[in-house]
Amino acid sequence: MNVEIVELDDRKAKFVLSGATHAFANSLRRGMLAEIPTLAIDYVNIYNNTSVLFDEQLALRLGLIPLKTDLDSYVLPSDCGCGGEGCPQCQVSLTLSVEGPKMAYSTEMVSADPAVTPADAVPIIKLAEGQKISLEAVARLGTGHDHAKWQAGVACGYKNMPHITVLEECDACGMCVDACPRGVLVITDNVAKAVDERACSLCRLCESVCELNWIKVDTYPDSVIFTAESDGSMPITELIIRSADNIKERATALDEYLGIIDA
Ligand code: SF4
Ligand code: SF4
Ligand SMILES: [Zn+2]
Repeated sequence: MNVEIVELDDRKAKFVLSGATHAFANSLRRGMLAEIPTLAIDYVNIYNNTSVLFDEQLALRLGLIPLKTDLDSYVLPSDCGCGGEGCPQCQVSLTLSVEGPKMAYSTEMVSADPAVTPADAVPIIKLAEGQKISLEAVARLGTGHDHAKWQAGVACGYKNMPHITVLEECDACGMCVDACPRGVLVITDNVAKAVDERACSLCRLCESVCELNWIKVDTYPDSVIFTAESDGSMPITELIIRSADNIKERATALDEYLGIIDA
């Protein structure tokens, strides 16, 4: 298996994954969406709310705010020694006390753990003169399996890696070069050639204009172009590595289980 990084920053990654099946790529994607825990606000004690939002709507907005998550510091409530009742190992409290006129932002929430803060300045509500909100929100770990608010990976997906072949008979007429909307093709040494297969959209316009079919657009059977984005709860590299580790853990567990069945 090989990974070629195309783009990478703290939140987003684009890479070519080769020597791997589409099933593996899909497992990696699903792990990022549903298996890796992240912190999200799970319940809210509202002490005062004179805004135009009902308490339930306010709680819904708070639940969808991405929170920076250190998975080495917290455990899932179901795995915690407190039995899920709530303790510093499985939950963290954030308070918000604001008064209008103003726009209240997620970054105004004060966390009991300085390491757990909103990943972005998300507008919560616009308060008019004299309107107040005072609340305590409790964040806990969960996974995307249970609710989308615990989904650390967003816009995670992959597409087939294009493979463009030009046969020797090509007469360098240039029609495919002109037809390509992505600028993938050039004429070099009297033959059409792909300069960047990754940029190809697989539209096959080049094939349709080549009257003698000297150009073929196909895909590599064991390569995909993978794109992934984190909601900000953790760096995208950590999310990808944790997802790959999760596949290994589940495969090992299945292997052990099947071993027990065979025995
Ligand atoms: S592949 Fe076909 S359309 Fe493209 S330059 Fe060659 S002959 Fe022309
Ligand atoms: S399939 Fe479409 S994008 Fe790809 S090389 Fe041909 S014309 Fe360009
Ligand atoms: Zn606990």
